[in-house]
Amino acid sequence: MYLTKEFITQLKQQIPIEHLIGRDVKLEKQANLFVGLCPFHPETQPSFTVFPATQSFYCFGCGAGSKTVTQSSDHSQSSPGRGNRTHSLFPAR
Ligand SMILES: [Zn+2]
Repeated sequence: MYLTKEFITQLKQQIPIEHLIGRDVKLEKQANLFVGLCPFHPETQPSFTVFPATQSFYCFGCGAGSKTVTQSSDHSQSSPGRGNRTHSLFPAR
């Protein structure tokens, strides 16, 4: 498990997220994304997607993801000043 305080600190230090996650998950580059097998649920088809552009990730299989992705896909982007909420890496479900 890498979603520790250390991990989040490293995220904030803007280490490329694909490097961090790539230490534990085998990622494959697809266009400007990386995909791999989700570390949060068993699967055989990669649905765990890393978005380098937003330093975030999301699993389309189980819904695990960082807040940044949730915000950019499910919510309006009308709160640009709130980009520092990435400490909530797990959605509340
Ligand atoms: Zn998953």
